Amino acid sequence: MNARLAEMSWPAVAQAVADGATTVIWPLGATEQHGPHLPLGTDTFRAVALAERLAAQLPGVLIAPALPIGCSDEHSGFAGLLSLDHDTLARLIVDCARRMVAWGVRRLILLSAHGGNVRALALAAEQLAREWPSLQIWTPGDMTALGGALLAAAREEGITPESAGLHAGEAETSEMLHLHPQWVSMDQAVPGYTGDMEAIMPYLQGVGLQPVAPSGVLGDPREATAGRGDRYLAIQARTCRDQIEAGHFTVPVTTDSSASSESLPSPNLTDSLSVPRPPQGSGDEQ
Ligand SMILES: [Zn+2]
Repeated sequence: MNARLAEMSWPAVAQAVADGATTVIWPLGATEQHGPHLPLGTDTFRAVALAERLAAQLPGVLIAPALPIGCSDEHSGFAGLLSLDHDTLARLIVDCARRMVAWGVRRLILLSAHGGNVRALALAAEQLAREWPSLQIWTPGDMTALGGALLAAAREEGITPESAGLHAGEAETSEMLHLHPQWVSMDQAVPGYTGDMEAIMPYLQGVGLQPVAPSGVLGDPREATAGRGDRYLAIQARTCRDQIEAGHFTVPVTTDSSASSESLPSPNLTDSLSVPRPPQGSGDEQ
């Protein structure tokens, strides 16, 4: 079954939901510098690839169109940046999730491939848990599970964490060599910051990436290979699947009722929307 929302008609979506496809995977990316050798859409391409791989391993899923802009202000100063404030992205996710709930979605997997989105995902998950306690939400959290799985796979192949890197290093470059080699310029691939990646994190969040790595690279992309990129994507998708199957969903937040939205339809109205119906009359169909 084609599970991509953008390629499906509404009756096909309604039928899929009626048949049990009540999980949506939403790939969330970014448009930001990835060194002199990778395209700005790297995180979006990676998010889409992870979504496709995860969808193949979970029953009853639909894939939402990728969101190609995230929270990337740590890349200020580099040409090509597009970025949202954290609360803007959170709001966008919440707005779309409300509509998904209305046509029958019961589980939302926010598959972000960009670390800068973490805070927005947490904000969105918290808001949604308040509004829709029955909606299960999965996010990659602070990315440590995915990052840890990737680094373990890298180590097995003799790649150090300093080479694999946090950004545009061997890891992301290998993934892009597998996914879209036509947009990778290996002749431009140069090592950037290759010190302790964990130690640099607070500094990056404070001053951004440019003072640390003027080329925009955290890691050393020169050893990247397409085969390793394929394996990195596989291990990350498997880690997502394991967490989801283990039920590691956001726990609904019990909080003051004043935070709940006033403009939402009652969630229990939505069950009647899952059966396809032919359009009645004309003029009100888009
Ligand atoms: Zn990236």
